[in-house]
Amino acid sequence: MPAEDPILIVGGGLGGLAVALALGRSGWRVRVLEETPEFGAIGYGIQLGPNVFPMFERLGVSAAVLRQSNLPPALVMLDALDGTEVARLPTGDSFRRCFKHPYVVIHRIDLHNVLLDACRSSPNIELEASTCVSGIEAEGDRIGVRTKDGRSIAGAAVIGADGLGSCIRAQLRNEGPPRLTGYVAHRTIVPMERVPDGVLREEVVLWGGPGYHIVHYPLRHGSVFNLVAVFRTSTFAEKGDVQGHREEVIRTYANAHPAMQALLGLMDLERRWAISDRDPIRHWHQGRAVLLGDAAHPTLQSLAQGACMAIEDGVCLAGLIDAAGGDFEAAFRRYQVARVVRTARVQLDSRVLWEFYHAAGIARDVRTLTVADWSEAHMFDCLAWLYDGFQTSQP
Ligand SMILES: Cc1cc2nc3c(=O)[nH]c(=O)nc-3n(C[C@H](O)[C@H](O)[C@H](O)COP(=O)(O)OP(=O)(O)OC[C@H]3O[C@@H](n4cnc5c(N)ncnc54)[C@H](O)[C@@H]3O)c2cc1C
Repeated sequence: MPAEDPILIVGGGLGGLAVALALGRSGWRVRVLEETPEFGAIGYGIQLGPNVFPMFERLGVSAAVLRQSNLPPALVMLDALDGTEVARLPTGDSFRRCFKHPYVVIHRIDLHNVLLDACRSSPNIELEASTCVSGIEAEGDRIGVRTKDGRSIAGAAVIGADGLGSCIRAQLRNEGPPRLTGYVAHRTIVPMERVPDGVLREEVVLWGGPGYHIVHYPLRHGSVFNLVAVFRTSTFAEKGDVQGHREEVIRTYANAHPAMQALLGLMDLERRWAISDRDPIRHWHQGRAVLLGDAAHPTLQSLAQGACMAIEDGVCLAGLIDAAGGDFEAAFRRYQVARVVRTARVQLDSRVLWEFYHAAGIARDVRTLTVADWSEAHMFDCLAWLYDGFQTSQP
C-alpha cells in the first residue's frame, strides 16, 4: 500500500526522474528534490543502447524519445594516428532484428524534457528545484532528509539519485571521493555546416589514440554535431583557462590524424570534466535509504551506459517497491540483488574498453590484429549480455 509520506528522491537527473515516473505511474507519491534552480541536464548529447527502450516502454515515453532521436547507421572506431577503420558495428536492420530495439543518440535536454513532461503530468509527483539536500535524518522508525537551508523533510523512504558526488552515499558508506583517472573531457555542440569535409556525419564515431580519444555524432535530426574530446593530462585536477587548455590540446593531439585536428579546432575548451569512477560495491542500502544510478555505480563512459543503467535501476527499483507493498527494506534488498552484478560488469568492462581505446605502441598493433576478424555476429554476441536488456521482473 502506498505510504502516507511521499518517497523522497534526492536528485532530478535521468535516474531520479525515471524512478519518480515509474513510482508515480504505480500510484506512489514522490517528491523529487533537486539542488539546481531548474530541472534540466547538461546540454550535450547522449547515446542510448537498445537495452533502455523496454524501460522507456514501461514509463510510457518510448515514442516521445524516438521522435527526438537520431538513429545512426553504425558505431565506428577509427585509429587516431592513421585514420583507418578499426571496427564497425552496424546499428541498422540487422542490429534491430538482433536486439529488438534501436541504438539512438539524443540531446540530453530533449531526453530530460520528455521525462520531465511525463512527471509533470502525474498528480503523484512533486518536483522541487533549488533544494540542496545535505544528508539523511533517521531516528527509530522515522526517515527524512535535511536541506542545506536548514529544513527537515520527512519521507517514507529516501532514494539517493544524486550522482557521482552523492551526499547520500557519503553518509551511508565510509569511503573517500571517486577515483580520478587523470583524464579530462571537453564537450561541444556545433551547427552541422561547420563540420569539416571528410568527417563521418551520421555514424557514432570514436577516434582512439594513445592517451586520448574523440567521440562525435549528429543530434536533432542532423542539424547539429556533438563532439567530446577526452585526454590524459597531469593538470586534470586543476582549474585552467581556455588558453592553457588550448595549448594542452595542441600538444596532446600533435600526432593525431588531420581530420581530428580539424575537429579540435571546433571545440569549446572553456569547461572541462575530470573523468572519474569508483570500484563496484555490493551494498547500496541501509534501512529505508537506497542508492541509484551514478550514486551507486559510477562508470567510465566507454560503453556509453551510465545513464542507461540509472534508468534501468529506476524502473527496477520502482517495480520492486510496488511489489513489496511498502516493505522498503525488502524491496531494497531485492533491488540490490537484481542490479549489482550487471552494473558492476558495466563498470569493470568500461575500464577494459578504456585501455583498448587508448592503446599505444605495440598494444595498438595487437588491438588492430585482434579486431581484424571480428564479424558482425561475433560483435552482437559479445554485446548480448548488455543489449539484450534486463528482466525487471527479477525477484
Ligand atoms: C562525457 C560523458 C559522456 C557520457 N555519455 C554517456 C552516454 O553516451 N550514454 C550513457 O548512458 N551515459 C553517458 N554518460 C554517463 C551519464 O551521464 C551518467 O551516468 C548519468 O547522468 C547518471 O545519471 P544519475 O541520474 O545517476 O546522476 P546525474 O545525472 O549526475 O544526476 C544527479 C542529479 O542530482 C542532483 N544533485 C546532486 N547533489 C544533490 C544534492 N545534494 N541535493 C539535491 N540534488 C542533488 C544534480 O544536480 C543532478 O541533477 C556520460 C558521462 C560523461 C561525463
